[in-house]
Amino acid sequence: QLTPLEIPSRLLLGPGPSNAHPTVLQAINTSPVGHLDPAFLALMDEIQSLLRYVWQTENSLTIAVSGTGTAAMEATIANAVEPGDVVLIGVAGYFGNRLVDMAGRYGADVRTITKPWGQVFNLDELQTALKTYRPAILALVHAETSTGARQPLEGVTDLCREFGTLLLVDTVTSLGGVPLFLDAWGVDLAYSCSQKGLGCPPGASPFTMSARAVEKLQQRQTKVANWYLDMLLLGKYWGAERTYHHTAPINLYYALREALRLLAEEGLANSWQRHQKNVEYLWEGLENLGLSMHVEQEYRLPTLTTVCIPAGVDGKAIARQLLNEYNIEIGGGLGELAGKVWRVGLMGFNSRKDSVDQLLAALRQVLPK
Ligand code: PLP
Repeated sequence: QLTPLEIPSRLLLGPGPSNAHPTVLQAINTSPVGHLDPAFLALMDEIQSLLRYVWQTENSLTIAVSGTGTAAMEATIANAVEPGDVVLIGVAGYFGNRLVDMAGRYGADVRTITKPWGQVFNLDELQTALKTYRPAILALVHAETSTGARQPLEGVTDLCREFGTLLLVDTVTSLGGVPLFLDAWGVDLAYSCSQKGLGCPPGASPFTMSARAVEKLQQRQTKVANWYLDMLLLGKYWGAERTYHHTAPINLYYALREALRLLAEEGLANSWQRHQKNVEYLWEGLENLGLSMHVEQEYRLPTLTTVCIPAGVDGKAIARQLLNEYNIEIGGGLGELAGKVWRVGLMGFNSRKDSVDQLLAALRQVLPK
């Protein structure tokens, strides 16, 4: 016979999910209403305007996709890419490669520009690649969670305009924790997730597209190959028509609305500053323990830090010990960085001095003397 659910209480300092604020958990615990109930429709409207705020955009087509960050990534690719489109993708980590795989599946003529994992592209490199490939879309990962590097986006759109290229950006590990100005930076398509900087459980993922991107979508010769994620249909569900599309995960949307409310109450700029301050405190503490970071300081993310595993140390064993003895989760390396780094996340509600103190105290105990 099964016992009632028993899940250990952990401090989630890995690459995500992060812990949700208690009021977010209270929100998810509210009884569901019908997904066309006026109260729920009003909540959807609030989510849309709060998402516009956290993304700093006026994009009318700004919604949450029912699914995790990968579903929002797929929505973005499925709606932006028409078979045969040249899509240029910046690959400097695991999630750049995921975009390559996905765009190829939707019929894109994929071209890549690459950098060693942990580095970022500069404007000259992007300009040369744009001149060479003249792509319909340039896709970049703003916060590469596999490496901890932050890709600068300022100025990229000016290069794109010359070729009529749309700018698509993965903001899964940046939204809420890293300065991001979609309209000022001219980003046409962006997606994110709920479980990192927004501090909500996974499953309701922000998505937005500019008027330019909507125009391209409306002029397509072929239907979007994914029914569930077709924005021409989803836009009618989230827009004035309210046409039934799917049964939304109602309770997750309650949670997302509360997480966004908390962020708006704190103020976006305050949240960005808090993330920066706490990560700098983390870096200092790690350096005091004799550890070093994988990414050059200028390009390090405030939300995710890759820490080099010292020679001779069993990285997996340390992470296991942190989990089993201290209830603290940190991540291991992905892809090329597997076995070489730990990944420490300070995201959303978890970006706090006391989380850092707990981790540093535990590391002091478990690292070889
Ligand atoms: N893109 C990036 C940069 C990510 O870090 C992740 C997940 O960590 C994803 C996409 C996929 O999101 P999810 O795991 O929520 O499907």
